[in-house]
Amino acid sequence: MRGLIPGTPSGPIPTPSLSAPDSSHGGSGAGPILRSGPHSPAIGRRVGFDYLVVGAGFAGSVLAERLAAGSGKRVLVVDRRPHIAGNAYDHYDDAGVLVHRYGPHIFHTNSPAVAEYLSRFTKWRPYEHRVLAQVGRKLVPMPINRTTLNLLYGLDLRDEAETEAYLASRAEPVEEIRTSEDVVISKVGRELYETFFRGYTRKQWGLDPSELDKSVTARVPTRTNTDDRYFGDSFQQMPLHGYTRMFENMLDHPNIKIMLNTDFREVRNEVAYDKLIFTGPVDEYFDYRYGQLPYRSLRFRHETVDQEQFQPVAVVNYPSEDVPYTRITEYKHLTGQRHARTSVTYEYPSAEGDPYYPVPRPENAELYRKYQALADATPDVAFVGRLATYRYYNMDQVVAQALATYARLAKSDQRVNGTAEAARAMSALARGLPTGQRVHMGK
Ligand SMILES: Cc1cc2nc3c(=O)[nH]c(=O)nc-3n(C[C@H](O)[C@H](O)[C@H](O)COP(=O)(O)OP(=O)(O)OC[C@H]3O[C@@H](n4cnc5c(N)ncnc54)[C@H](O)[C@@H]3O)c2cc1C
Repeated sequence: MRGLIPGTPSGPIPTPSLSAPDSSHGGSGAGPILRSGPHSPAIGRRVGFDYLVVGAGFAGSVLAERLAAGSGKRVLVVDRRPHIAGNAYDHYDDAGVLVHRYGPHIFHTNSPAVAEYLSRFTKWRPYEHRVLAQVGRKLVPMPINRTTLNLLYGLDLRDEAETEAYLASRAEPVEEIRTSEDVVISKVGRELYETFFRGYTRKQWGLDPSELDKSVTARVPTRTNTDDRYFGDSFQQMPLHGYTRMFENMLDHPNIKIMLNTDFREVRNEVAYDKLIFTGPVDEYFDYRYGQLPYRSLRFRHETVDQEQFQPVAVVNYPSEDVPYTRITEYKHLTGQRHARTSVTYEYPSAEGDPYYPVPRPENAELYRKYQALADATPDVAFVGRLATYRYYNMDQVVAQALATYARLAKSDQRVNGTAEAARAMSALARGLPTGQRVHMGK
């Protein structure tokens, strides 16, 4: 990959194709370093970067690629982690097995535009995700489908009508569906709720489903057929050589420089840039002015075992509260890798650690709205991605959000350039000089 600057925040600051430095703007003596940033006036484009992108996950990398390759902008990407690809980062572990550092990432989308865009940077391998749940000694399909019910209760439900009638006989009427508990009980009844949802949700969120917004469990479908695929999207494929390779290809552009192990705070006043793309936590950007936005975190225990296969599918869920982890992932199912050994990850939900899941409760949404108002009132900074918008997004949704942000930025850039061009033409006309060029106004 071109332009990778191993994290040395105290080392030289990268400056692409610079003109002469202007020391009046605060050079450090170590080179042409100008001070600019969201809290100081933009310096302009004489030295430095057009864009500083904070975060090298999907949101930041898609925007860096588009701005560099699509608009010829000079972009500096910083990430405080020691790698690119954000939460989608994968790597070969000590045993040589390709694993995902931050839990299994399965790519699926209904958007042809998102699939087409990412296909510029990777080939794919078809993969349809299937999940089993360990209930007592049985492994049954999850989400609940006809096979789940037949296996669990020794039934012989033969078609959708019979299954629908069975579920209807177990469902309990709920007057107003508000919480995650209400959603499930009203659809499949208390017993299935307790078997599959209550323990899992309590472990995952540290909250009872009755305390959580209905959206959490409403996402999980219940099927009356035997379809055991976890997702129903039209495009379900994994990057053939992994996510990190895909990100390397995306960021491989002469206009993109990357600094790893580098926090935004370390460079915000050391690098000259015109505009900022911020994909980190929005509350952190505003110094937690209204308090911290709550997140649920995870602890990952990675293990390699001396057998070719550990479990029959990529993910097995453990809904019982007697087991401390929520699920085990075996990566070879996702990647198709052949290897004599296999690597797995146990997931332990936790209150402490990296921010992974925004906690969907009304008071948190209210708190986020206050930060959103601050973000809306901050010109020249685009807040993009899951942390900056405090939403749980799948990868394809973040790609779509980043592409939409790029389209907006490119349009306003066109407008600004068009206006500048027009202003130059007008003043040339006023001085009675030939303009030498046609005037294009941005839309
Ligand atoms: C356990 C888990 C499993 C998931 N599984 C799936 C799945 O199967 N399918 C799917 O579609 N989606 C999945 N997702 C969601 C997916 O991870 C997100 O959609 C995606 O990572 C969002 O990309 P992003 O760029 O917004 O954020 P991130 O990938 O988190 O990237 C943000 C980056 O910004 C950096 N950063 C933050 N603050 C700063 C700062 N101040 N200075 C410098 N750098 C900073 C971070 O280090 C990080 O690398 C999963 C998420 C989790 C937590």
